[in-house]
Amino acid sequence: MTDALLIRSAAAFLDEQGGVVPGQDILVTNGVITAVGPREEMASRPAAKGAKVLDLGGLLVFPGLMNSHVHFAFNGTDNVREVYLAETPEERVARALDNARVMALSGVTTARDCGSDIPVMQAMLAAADEGEAVLPNLLMCGPPITAICGHLHYMGGEATTSDEVRALVRRTRAAGARSAKVMATGGQMTPGTLPEVAAFELAELTALVEEARSLDMSTVSHCLSSEGTIRSARAGFDSIEHCAFFERTGEGWLERVYRQDVTDAIRASGSAVMMGLAASTKALEGVRATGEGTPHEHFRLAQERRMMRIFKQMADQGIPMICGTDAGTAATPFDETWREVVMMVEAGLTPLQAIRNATTIVARAMRIDHEAGAIRAGLRADLIALADNPLENPAAFRTPAWVMVRGREILSSPMTSP
Ligand SMILES: [Zn+2]
Repeated sequence: MTDALLIRSAAAFLDEQGGVVPGQDILVTNGVITAVGPREEMASRPAAKGAKVLDLGGLLVFPGLMNSHVHFAFNGTDNVREVYLAETPEERVARALDNARVMALSGVTTARDCGSDIPVMQAMLAAADEGEAVLPNLLMCGPPITAICGHLHYMGGEATTSDEVRALVRRTRAAGARSAKVMATGGQMTPGTLPEVAAFELAELTALVEEARSLDMSTVSHCLSSEGTIRSARAGFDSIEHCAFFERTGEGWLERVYRQDVTDAIRASGSAVMMGLAASTKALEGVRATGEGTPHEHFRLAQERRMMRIFKQMADQGIPMICGTDAGTAATPFDETWREVVMMVEAGLTPLQAIRNATTIVARAMRIDHEAGAIRAGLRADLIALADNPLENPAAFRTPAWVMVRGREILSSPMTSP
C-alpha cells in the first residue's frame, strides 16, 4: 500500500527551466513532491508503481501563489478597526478562518498573516494542525511589535526599549509566530499614528532582527515613510512592506516622494520589498471608470500611477519585489492575490518575473524556500492547475481549476473525476 499520487497534466511550470514544460508528471508522497520528470521516465520509477494517478488533462500545473502580507481577522471594508474591536474573540477567529478558506480556494497555498492577536493566531494554528479546515499554509506574525499606542497597538504588541522588543519577539515565537513583524512607522488605519514618521530607532529594529534570527524567524517591517524604510533596511529586515515613501503635503495628504537613498539602503541590505500594488486599488475603481471624483481621489489616483513607476524603478535596480496584497484592509479582498501578479506585469515586469515574485522569490524573503515555492522534489505539494498559460496571460491566475495544499486537494477539477 502506498499513498503516492502521480499528477499528470499537459505541462508544469519548472522555475529552474524558466517556463512551462510539457509532459511532466509530479509524484507526491505524504504531501511532499518526491519526483518530477517526463512521463515515461516517471512511470518506470519504483516509487510510482501502485501510485494513484490524478489526470488533470489539458491543464497546466503551477506552484500555488504566496502572499507575504494579509490580515485574516480583518474584513476588507473602510471600518476594519471598528469592526475588529467590536467583535468577540470567537467572531474574529470565525472571520479569519473564513477569509483563509477563500484565499486558499483562490490558489494561494501559503500566506503570511502580518498582524493578529494571540487568540486568533493560536486558533488558526490549531485549525491548521487539526487538518480539517481548508487553509493555505500559514505563517503567522501574531501581534505586530509597535510603539506605545502605535499602529495596530490594540493587538497587544506594544514595546519601547530594545529589551522589551526582544522579550516580545520571544513571547510571540513561543505563542506560535514564525515571522516577526514591526510597525516601523505609523499606519493609516490607526488614528493618532503618523504614517510619515518613524516609530522606532535603529537600535530597537536591530534588536528585533537579531532576536528573530536567533529563533529562526523571518522578519518583516511595515514602512510608510522614507526614514522608517532606511532604518529597517539598515537593521537587516528580510522584507520591507508597503515602502510608500510618504511625505505630508500642504493639504495634509500623503504623497509618494521617491528617494534614491532609500533604494540604495535597501539594495545594500539585500531586503526584499512588498509594495502591494493591488492593495485598495478597488477603492478608486469608480473614479478610474468615470473620471469623476473628489480632488483627493484624483490625487490618490495620481499616487497610484506614481507607485507603479516607483515599483518598476526599484525592480530595475535589482530589488526583489515580492507578492503581497494587505488583504483584509480596505477594498482589498482575499481572493485577489492574482491581481498583484497582473499589476506587476502592468508596471513593466515580464510575466515570468512576476510569477517568480509570487512563488520562489517571496518564499526566499519569508525564509521558507526550502519548504515551498516551486515544483521540485523535496518541497511541499502546494500546487494549482490553470486552463490558460499565465506566462502569456497573467490573469489566468484569477480562476484556478484545481488547488492542492500539502498534497490535499482542496479544489477539484471536473477533469479529474474518475
Ligand atoms: Zn498590513
